Amino acid sequence: MPIYDYRCSSCGLQQDILQKMSDAPLTVCPECGLHTFAKQLTAAGFQLKGNGYYATDFKNQPKPEATPCASCPAACATD
Ligand SMILES: [Zn+2]
Repeated sequence: MPIYDYRCSSCGLQQDILQKMSDAPLTVCPECGLHTFAKQLTAAGFQLKGNGYYATDFKNQPKPEATPCASCPAACATD
């Protein structure tokens, strides 16, 4: 599912929203409740599509699986 960058032109709220392609675009701002919430077509949005959706989770991604350490398997396992 693509992530859309929404922005409210009234209060300036910016939010990334996960939507199906078939979902109707949101128009109501969750912050101020006005119908000024609109989908942005940003370069970042296109980049997400190309790279896969988890690009936004990049900083939250766990470190790669620790390779077992021959000399201290217990310590490595408990991180
Ligand atoms: Zn707003």
